[in-house]
Amino acid sequence: MKEKIKQKIYSGERLNDQEALTLFDWDLPELGHAADFRRGLISPENTVGFIVDRIINYSNLCEAKCDFCAFHARGNVIKEYELSLDDILRKTEELHRIGGSQVMLQGGLHPDKKIEYYEKILKEIKGSFPEISLHSFSPSEIVHISLMSGLSVENVLERLLNAGLDSVPGASDLLVDRIRKMVSPNKIDADTWESTMRTMHRFSIKSSATMTYGMGETLEERISHLMRIRKLQDDTGMIRAFITWSFSPNMTKLQDITPSTGTDYLKTVTVSRIVLDNVKYIQAGWLTEGMKIAQISLAMGVNDMGGVLMEETVVKATGITENTNAPEMIELIKNAGKTPVRRNSSYEEIERYS
Ligand code: SF4
Repeated sequence: MKEKIKQKIYSGERLNDQEALTLFDWDLPELGHAADFRRGLISPENTVGFIVDRIINYSNLCEAKCDFCAFHARGNVIKEYELSLDDILRKTEELHRIGGSQVMLQGGLHPDKKIEYYEKILKEIKGSFPEISLHSFSPSEIVHISLMSGLSVENVLERLLNAGLDSVPGASDLLVDRIRKMVSPNKIDADTWESTMRTMHRFSIKSSATMTYGMGETLEERISHLMRIRKLQDDTGMIRAFITWSFSPNMTKLQDITPSTGTDYLKTVTVSRIVLDNVKYIQAGWLTEGMKIAQISLAMGVNDMGGVLMEETVVKATGITENTNAPEMIELIKNAGKTPVRRNSSYEEIERYS
């Protein structure tokens, strides 16, 4: 069985779910080699991209209160906050000043705000910084805005697009309702996530897709998540990148869960690369896994480091302190034997550091 699967991988054939599942039993070097071979088929260049970006978490008020989240406001534990428009513009200006090119606006499922609030933020940012790309919100925020505003998802997308939205992060969590019901029962289910993504893609809004693992799922369930993403990409072709990261339990209601290991991350990201043969960019999850593991992943099929994240607060709420900046990112990529490329949100090259 293993030899047959190996043959399929090295001849560029697609694996089915049963075959993909057995990859978790392979030794890591062998798996990493196979994943890097598959990376070469879809992205033969020896480059690794990164983007100078900033996440602006405009508010931590959230009705969903997911058990796996350390970010949302709750009682006396985490104080609620809401940034003013001036704060948001000042943060964007700081990013603009250092040559950054992408803002990710992300919040929770806000209890009061309607479409006009989000339109205003987008318009103000685009009005002052037209060259900054707005890779913002998430499928669950978009569905929530539609419910709060009494509008269809299509109407919401149309209005956000007109206000300046460029693309949307996939924020897929884990597309397994058994787990979603346990850890995020108030968030959209997997089918709604997919239908929202399909609607966005119909509106030519490109996205990423993600996977958060390590919340009690089986390996079969991780594979089923990947298969769902692959099918979606087959149908729409609008997924620009895939990012997987492990769940960080600290400071969440699930803090008794043992965090996943670096080996588990490397296996999961390499299996993702092999299964997702139609997604060009697989990003390293450096924020949760650390820079060293991220660097190793560059030899195992990963070809993008994602953003330098001038600011990020959702993952940091779990106590993670990992930070980076453009010079460090360039150095790390070079030391992995790759050519660093600073890119924009559309994965177009801005500068190459050879
Ligand atoms: S993960 Fe998102 S939706 Fe869930 S509680 Fe946190 S902010 Fe809210």
